[in-house]
Amino acid sequence: MQKAENIKKYKREVDGALANDFLRLAMDKFAVAYRGSRENVFSGMDVNGIIAEVAGAKDAAIARMDELYELFKQNAEKAGITVHLAETALEANEIICKIAKDNDVSKIIKSKSMTAEETLLNHHLEANDLEVTETDLGEWIIQLRHEGPSHMVMPAIHLSRNQVGELFTDVTGKQQPSEDIDHLVKVARQQLRQKFIEADMGISGANFALADTGTLGIITNEGNARLVTTLPRVHVALVGLEKLMPTLHDALTVNRVLPRNATGQAITSYVTWISGPNECKADATGRKQMHIVFLDNGRRKLAKDPVFSQVLRCVRCGACANVCPVYRMVGGHQMGHIYIGAIGLIMTYFFHGRDKAKNLVQNCINCGACKSVCAAGIDLPGLIKEVHARILDETGHPLTSVMLSKVMQSRELFHRFLRYASFAQKPVVGKTGYIRHLPMIFAREHDFKAIPAIAERPFREIWESVRPSVENPRYRVALFSGCVQDFVYPEQLVAGLQAMAGHGVAVDFPMDQNCCGLPLQMMGEKSAAREVAAQNVAAIDPDQYDYIVTLCASCASHLKNAYPKILDPDSIAGTKAKQFSDKIISFSSFMNDVIQVRQDEFTRSDETVTYHAPCHLCRGLGVKDAPHELIQKAGVFAPAQEEETCCGFGGTYSGKFPQISKEILNRKLDDVKQTGADILVTECPGCVMQLRGGAEKRCDSFRVLHMAEFLAKQRK
Ligand code: SF4
Ligand code: SF4
Repeated sequence: MQKAENIKKYKREVDGALANDFLRLAMDKFAVAYRGSRENVFSGMDVNGIIAEVAGAKDAAIARMDELYELFKQNAEKAGITVHLAETALEANEIICKIAKDNDVSKIIKSKSMTAEETLLNHHLEANDLEVTETDLGEWIIQLRHEGPSHMVMPAIHLSRNQVGELFTDVTGKQQPSEDIDHLVKVARQQLRQKFIEADMGISGANFALADTGTLGIITNEGNARLVTTLPRVHVALVGLEKLMPTLHDALTVNRVLPRNATGQAITSYVTWISGPNECKADATGRKQMHIVFLDNGRRKLAKDPVFSQVLRCVRCGACANVCPVYRMVGGHQMGHIYIGAIGLIMTYFFHGRDKAKNLVQNCINCGACKSVCAAGIDLPGLIKEVHARILDETGHPLTSVMLSKVMQSRELFHRFLRYASFAQKPVVGKTGYIRHLPMIFAREHDFKAIPAIAERPFREIWESVRPSVENPRYRVALFSGCVQDFVYPEQLVAGLQAMAGHGVAVDFPMDQNCCGLPLQMMGEKSAAREVAAQNVAAIDPDQYDYIVTLCASCASHLKNAYPKILDPDSIAGTKAKQFSDKIISFSSFMNDVIQVRQDEFTRSDETVTYHAPCHLCRGLGVKDAPHELIQKAGVFAPAQEEETCCGFGGTYSGKFPQISKEILNRKLDDVKQTGADILVTECPGCVMQLRGGAEKRCDSFRVLHMAEFLAKQRK
């Protein structure tokens, strides 16, 4: 459970997680295996269509939350269930404690429930002298270790079998062989069976609460939830209000994606529906007592929030953690408070407060992997940035980010600043084009990659000398450079012009363009991000061009996806922003799909070429095939494993969390090395900076090129 008071302490705890070799190995294995099983289990299905259906069904239910609660209560009470509504976590815990006391309960068994983790129910019950035993294997293990879950579906994923063997040796007082996992499972079964028999009360969660019949749905893989809900004489279910759905049909829609997304299974081992108290010999009435405690804890307010209500669509599949490169490096205890992974960063703010969320929301690299697999189509990276911005608005923005945002809002000031930096760096720039010595305060954490020098002359200064002259053009194109290519890698833009030459492309470089604003958005400086967006839309009139081409995938994704949202759609700038974003195209899409460059235009050498797919190109813009096709036209392609996994750059992220950035980068460079390729091609200057700088430090033998540089080099 992450609760560091400040970012410095949080980073120290992150360092501890990064030093845990077992955790890294386990997470790595799991991440690779998960991707494969998810792909298999969804094969032949319209995944995006199903996800859209889930999002629609959940949104409709969220909008009717109060009404569905009343309907559920009516129907459940008809069937003999007592229904409670708790405003807060404490109130829910008190209601459950009172039910236990009223029924002379002393021993309780529980099945896994994230909602009960949210309310810290076990602590409350134990503080009231009640014995509580978790019966899900993973939950029981972490309960014995006095830890919180490190994953929503697999709570003990961070532990090795040796650690579990030692734990079970302590619990049973007998040496348990840790190499035999089946044996360890049997030990748990034996220990827990007696607890089931002795329990007076069972506590469960639920995946669904069906309003039209007052039915609970529980989806599990271990049989423990069935025993918890049927054996003891009292059953209490603690259920978040967002689990309410109108009908079984809605629940089954969700269930088509939930197990597939969670564990790569078409269906879980147990799907249980409970529509009332069953017979029970242990109770004098011959029927057990059943209570359902619905938890609000901010959910009804959240349901009305136009930006954040989508958080309540979450079906707790855990997939957003499974694919997250940061989670993979540091595990759930550093990537969440109680709820973990991408959704955990957001829920922590709403369910556990700003103080618990303020460090966590900064630990997102904005790679978009979570959004691409979310079972409910939630815009997770967008909401993480929104939470970060809200926290800064509530607590005050750091002086450095306020200053930087002021500088960046003034194009002239910003560019003057960069030119000054280019001059000031001269004493520390070596002949290699990298900065030779970092100041001492940065050297320790940031020396895992060579940092490129700022170019002596930015692209905007050499533009007139490289501007192509084209008569009767087929296409009129505006070039959007982004800051990194304009000021650090102008040669990539020159290479782009060379690659387009001869195809009738009239290129223009509007001088008033500024930073795209993504770094400002990442820093939580929303109004500055809005201001630079308006400047860019004013600088490049979409009516004058067929396309606005950018060689920076991050800029392209931000210009295309974010601009229409951050500029008021009802304003003139907003309308223009929509036309502007419609014209945005990535370099490889333009070269491959619009110009349609041919294989016979390139000299094919024997060098093998592998590819890193920038997050904002493959997920942000959905461009996947064009780069492959271009490489195959101009060279010999050697695909790398996990080519779509983030390189660890993330703009300002690699400056803030260099230790994580370094580990993600090394993982990526190892995959590239394994291909034996001579050249690594990518299409984002940020990725080039990270990968080239890392390869340089490690003395890897391959060269790192931007796609434009590769195509220009291979042209006949
Ligand atoms: S955007 Fe990437 S880094 Fe951020 S939470 Fe999602 S998967 Fe993790
Ligand atoms: S946010 Fe999406 S991916 Fe993450 S747990 Fe919820 S439904 Fe699953």
